[in-house]
Amino acid sequence: MVLTILLGVLFTLLGFVFASFFGVVICRVPNGESIVKPASHCDSCGHVLKWYENIPILSYIFLGGKCKECKARIPVFFFIYEILGGLTICLAYVQFGLSINFLFASLITLILLLIGGYDYKTNTILDIFWIIFLALTIGWFVYRIVVLNHVWWHYLVGAAALGGFFLLIKVVFYLIKKVDVLGTGDVIFMAVAGLLLGYKTILIAVVVASIVGCIIELSLIAAKKKDRESPIPFCPYLALGVFVAMVYGESIVNLIIGG
Ligand SMILES: [Zn+2]
Repeated sequence: MVLTILLGVLFTLLGFVFASFFGVVICRVPNGESIVKPASHCDSCGHVLKWYENIPILSYIFLGGKCKECKARIPVFFFIYEILGGLTICLAYVQFGLSINFLFASLITLILLLIGGYDYKTNTILDIFWIIFLALTIGWFVYRIVVLNHVWWHYLVGAAALGGFFLLIKVVFYLIKKVDVLGTGDVIFMAVAGLLLGYKTILIAVVVASIVGCIIELSLIAAKKKDRESPIPFCPYLALGVFVAMVYGESIVNLIIGG
């Protein structure tokens, strides 16, 4: 019991640290900057952060969300992003326990976090991200088929259905409005997500993504942080929906069928 809790705390802290590192990736990679040099610094005044100004979550709170030198605001996005990193890894651990399933689930949680955060800031998915996502998903797929005796076609139908659905949206919008509403990366991302989830739980991912996306986007518009014309990022909400379906999908389906 004590060990379980200690491990839970450790994994949560690791989630904070990874999210903090991904925050650096999200800021620097789109500008073609190195992720190791220079050291973390304030974007406004260039003040190099001391170690205690660079602790995930805590530093943001102690600094009051501002640079110590020039008092420029540190975007709250990164604070929320770090919390999300620790929270999601913790939830995956609570659900799967210390197991091979948790190993796959936690690694996939991290890549979903990276995909969602990167897309939120840049509106793109790097090829390397979905390739890692695909590799991890195939690994888990093989484990579930060979060791856990899951039904293989459940997952393939999931991939075809979710990937096909988003491909259809892309094609229809292109034919009618001549606009690319979805990137090819988004469609591939959803096909891999379908392979990860299986056909029974893909709908949960889409429903969660839609609800959370609507609430947050409408709140941002209401708070005048965004106007109606701003593009809506689909991918971050889908990444969250995929996470929820991955961790709780089976429980939710059992609840619906059983209840
Ligand atoms: Zn500063």
